[in-house]
Amino acid sequence: MSRPTLHANGDASADVVIVGSGVVGGLIADQLAAEGHAVLVLEAGLRIQRDQAVENWRNMPFENRLHSDFQGLYPQSPDAPAPLYFPENHYVGLSGPNGSAFKQGYLRTVGGTTWHWAASSWRHLPVDFRMQSTYGVGRDWAIGYDDLEPYYCRAEEAMGVAGPNDPALQSPAERSKPYPMDMVPWAYGDKRFAEVVNAHGFRSIPIPQARSTRPWNGRPTCCGNNNCQPICPIGAMYNGIHSIESAERKGALVLAQAVVYKIDTDEANRITAVHWYDAERKSHKATGKKFVLACNGIETPRLLLLAANARNPNGIANSSDQVGRNMMDHSGMHCSFVANEPLWIGRGPAQSSCIVGPRDGEFRAQYSATKIILNNISQVAPATEKALAMGLSGKALDEEIRRRAVCGVDLSISLEPLPDPNNRLTLSATRKDPLGLACPDIHYDVGDYVRRGVAAVHEQLKTIGQLFGATDFVINENLNANNHIMGGTIMGADPRDSVVDGDCRAHDHANLWLPGGGAMPSASVVNTTLSMAALGIRAADSISRSLAQA
Ligand SMILES: Cc1cc2nc3c(=O)[nH]c(=O)nc-3n(C[C@H](O)[C@H](O)[C@H](O)COP(=O)(O)OP(=O)(O)OC[C@H]3O[C@@H](n4cnc5c(N)ncnc54)[C@H](O)[C@@H]3O)c2cc1C
Ligand code: SF4
Repeated sequence: MSRPTLHANGDASADVVIVGSGVVGGLIADQLAAEGHAVLVLEAGLRIQRDQAVENWRNMPFENRLHSDFQGLYPQSPDAPAPLYFPENHYVGLSGPNGSAFKQGYLRTVGGTTWHWAASSWRHLPVDFRMQSTYGVGRDWAIGYDDLEPYYCRAEEAMGVAGPNDPALQSPAERSKPYPMDMVPWAYGDKRFAEVVNAHGFRSIPIPQARSTRPWNGRPTCCGNNNCQPICPIGAMYNGIHSIESAERKGALVLAQAVVYKIDTDEANRITAVHWYDAERKSHKATGKKFVLACNGIETPRLLLLAANARNPNGIANSSDQVGRNMMDHSGMHCSFVANEPLWIGRGPAQSSCIVGPRDGEFRAQYSATKIILNNISQVAPATEKALAMGLSGKALDEEIRRRAVCGVDLSISLEPLPDPNNRLTLSATRKDPLGLACPDIHYDVGDYVRRGVAAVHEQLKTIGQLFGATDFVINENLNANNHIMGGTIMGADPRDSVVDGDCRAHDHANLWLPGGGAMPSASVVNTTLSMAALGIRAADSISRSLAQA
């Protein structure tokens, strides 16, 4: 086993230098360390303790908990800010017709953003890789579903995904292996909801989830206590920290509070080193043979632009001028109502069932697909807020809270954006982080494709409301972010209009890989972290082959 070297002056060297310790960086580090390579991971944020994050959440004011302040409980390194919403910071500057729909949540901490994800682990459909050639919209990938399918299997194994093994309940059903664990059992609400809507032509199916239904790689079995967002208290849900700790056990070195800001290149435009600031704001250098930037869909393009040098004046990996363009997320909306029967939402994990349809069809030439999640987050807080606003007190207040808590329904609707080069991340000319590095600015317009998708989903929502005799029926069309950040380092076969190839290797730099959401040319309509993880593992194989040739 090789180990990275930490020199007396604080500089380091390794076979592979990985920037970012989220799920993508963690999986790559774990694989390459297991193969015996010297792996160094540079992580901008703090190393946090699970119990401390749980305690911080318990101690948050009711208002923060009510409004899902999933960012606020995680301590931030002063030199690695991330978005905050209560109160809101302006670390990411947003503009454009739908700038407010791009308010992403992400963590800069050892283990990354999956500390507080919902663990929904979907695959793209085969046709999602061929949107341009099938429907004449969007872009095709440089690889197809069949090329990524083995990596989906490996990602599901590494993250411990529990999903339905009955093909009738799968989306897609094209799989070469069963799920590592069978589906998380549905609570009463999921069963009853599916029973009612599926009898009327809908297709509510189990969400594949990266949480354990039996002990899995040191993780305990999910006990269904519904705290997944913002943190699973017992670690039954997969978090990037699981992969990072596994990589460390295999010899990888992970440095926290290491903010990478500069990248060196040689005359062949190969990467020779990255530079980072430590907690004392001293600069250090890491040299290596292969480099990976896995900083997420916003921070990777930001770093590539920040690191522009004399050979790459428009930014690293940016000869195509596509770095920071094509920013995407599944813009979402909500529909809430009070059903005429108890559904007891809030038992089991945060999300377990979803109407996936229409997920595909000729309509995709015109407008976005949709998916409708039955949110399984406890309704007690919104029920209380509503009952108090009604001016009730005493027994009447108690009864109203109970009624709304057991009959309340919240549906989370996701839409599918198309890549648009005008949806663009640039470096702010005015705002800088505490290290003096330019903050990201993002211009965002969801586009008519999504707007037509919003219009199309209305009839479905009204029908669902009618099936449950809904009162207080509200469709909230204020589009919200879903934190699935994609597009800024887009994949393609042609280096003139894309940043990376089918292995997520930068067209411009033979020893640089940029795996993750940024590489994805199509968003599909489902959560995309499993696809990011599959791309990461595919990149790890490519790095491994390349090390063998060196
Ligand atoms: C509330 C919430 C719920 C979600 N639920 C789901 C879900 O159910 N299903 C799903 O598929 N997805 C979900 N997501 C999205 C998912 O969390 C992300 O897609 C995923 O975490 C991205 O992984 P990543 O490794 O690319 O980036 P991250 O996990 O964000 O990790 C990137 C790391 O890079 C580090 N970094 C950044 N810049 C630098 C730098 N300059 N130097 C050094 N290090 C740096 C960061 O500090 C960070 O730790 C959710 C997200 C949120 C916020
Ligand atoms: S339901 Fe509870 S145990 Fe299961 S993943 Fe969520 S928080 Fe963890």
